[in-house]
Amino acid sequence: ALKEKLARHSGPGATADGHPVKLLLNVGSVGGASAEAAADAEGVGLFRTEFLFLDRTEAPSVEEQRAAYGEVLRGFAGRPVVIRTLDAGADKYIPFANTEDEPNPALGVRGYRVGVRHPELLTAQLRAISLAAADHDADVRVMAPMIATPAEAAAFRDLTREHGIGRAGVMIEVPAAAIRAADILAEVDFVSIGTNDLSQYTYAADRMLGELGELLDPWQPALLALVANVAAAAKEAGKAAGICGEAASDPGLAPVFAGLGITSLSMSVSAVPAVRAALTDYTLEQCEVLAREVLSAPDAPKARRVAAEFAAKSG
Ligand code: PEP
Ligand code: MG
Repeated sequence: ALKEKLARHSGPGATADGHPVKLLLNVGSVGGASAEAAADAEGVGLFRTEFLFLDRTEAPSVEEQRAAYGEVLRGFAGRPVVIRTLDAGADKYIPFANTEDEPNPALGVRGYRVGVRHPELLTAQLRAISLAAADHDADVRVMAPMIATPAEAAAFRDLTREHGIGRAGVMIEVPAAAIRAADILAEVDFVSIGTNDLSQYTYAADRMLGELGELLDPWQPALLALVANVAAAAKEAGKAAGICGEAASDPGLAPVFAGLGITSLSMSVSAVPAVRAALTDYTLEQCEVLAREVLSAPDAPKARRVAAEFAAKSG
């Protein structure tokens, strides 16, 4: 077992018995992407595109977007890249996409909802993505942020198909979408769980408020229960369910997520080695037992204690 563990300090993510859990990167700019492309990871699980839109008075042109997306696609040639469409609003306020007069911007017209209000923004972005994908013969997928209903997921999928983009998914970061994950999955090719927003909306706790950190703890049972529901629905549908929020970089949770049936974890480059190593701690069967035990804990500290005890008895 030790030999196997040593062998997995590089390469694809997998449990001790070889069950794959893809190790993907979160990319948030073009500047860092060449270093990220050189990293030992299986692709990009979340390419945040807001950097192109922030601090400007109008949207970047299709050609500017095409070039920026192309740079990242070129770096990751041969590996899948999930590009997220513009997530304007709330903590990512963009003047030409959002309005200033919303009393609760986190509950306002943000993410995919902006694409409904300003279809020209979303269609220009999808056009740029499809052109960049063709330029680089890339394995590109797109996903929409802040999807709440299956109808929104279906509308987004239809739009991506119109642009000739083969694979379309949505983020699961609204509790409604997590609860009805099976209906959402029926409409799209994959889902990716945004645990930052899913925590915020599940615990009614602003993600920007450090004071509410305890409620935003990714070991909180209600968050993990929603993740479990999404993973089970994806398994049933035979589709991929990843995690791309901060929770994906917690090495202690990696085997729990594997046990729930999560198929990929997307994080910053620096988080990859510890998560890769943590996945090799247990076989898939052990991960499943661990996940059941952690999910039955009544609060986050007890969930961590359960995981520590599990490590002690399996070590
Ligand atoms: C999330 O909400 O978990 C997520 C990955 O998206 P962002 O942090 O960009 O809102
Ligand atoms: Mg989010």
